Amino acid sequence: PRKPGRPYRVLLLGASGVGKTAFASIFAGAADSMDSDDCELRGGPTAHVVHVNPSLNCFVFADWPRVCSGALHAGTGDAYLLLYSVTDRASFLRASQLRITLRRFRPAQHTPIILVGNKCDLVRRREVSVSEGRDCAAVFDCKFIETSAAMQHNVWEAFHGMVRQLRLRRDSK
Ligand code: GDP
Repeated sequence: PRKPGRPYRVLLLGASGVGKTAFASIFAGAADSMDSDDCELRGGPTAHVVHVNPSLNCFVFADWPRVCSGALHAGTGDAYLLLYSVTDRASFLRASQLRITLRRFRPAQHTPIILVGNKCDLVRRREVSVSEGRDCAAVFDCKFIETSAAMQHNVWEAFHGMVRQLRLRRDSK
């Protein structure tokens, strides 16, 4: 359980090459200038991105370097951005697997999870359609958004969607 005041841990999960690093660096770059309204993910000089667990291939965006040195695994996130690349069907399947794994870790239904179809700028290389992504999210009961980290398109929408869900969850307690 999250101690009051502890920053939320947001994990970016997904197959290799889907854009987790690109995503995280957008967040990290902006963290300094975030206003206190977004302080669940407070920025400041210590905000950074850590490669937490190479075997799970996950990153976390956080300002809690102390916590990061501990044994983190997929079960420790307060919220998840589950990324795939719309140009890579295998990564889409991987995202589904990860969703199932998360459900096992986190039987509580209220952990915010957003399925993110990244690289939507690569129109001609698309292998996964928008409706496939949307249908998958519906089956897995999570939100869905398509993004382009390269064009910085919808990245912040994904972030704010997640913050909204974290707040809803907090306020309903
Ligand atoms: P990671 O392995 O999930 O951390 O993936 P990276 O963030 O390292 O991205 C892998 C490659 O895809 C890099 O060359 C990125 O520049 C590129 N990339 C990431 N996001 C996008 C995107 O939205 N559009 C395009 N065209 N390329 C992207």
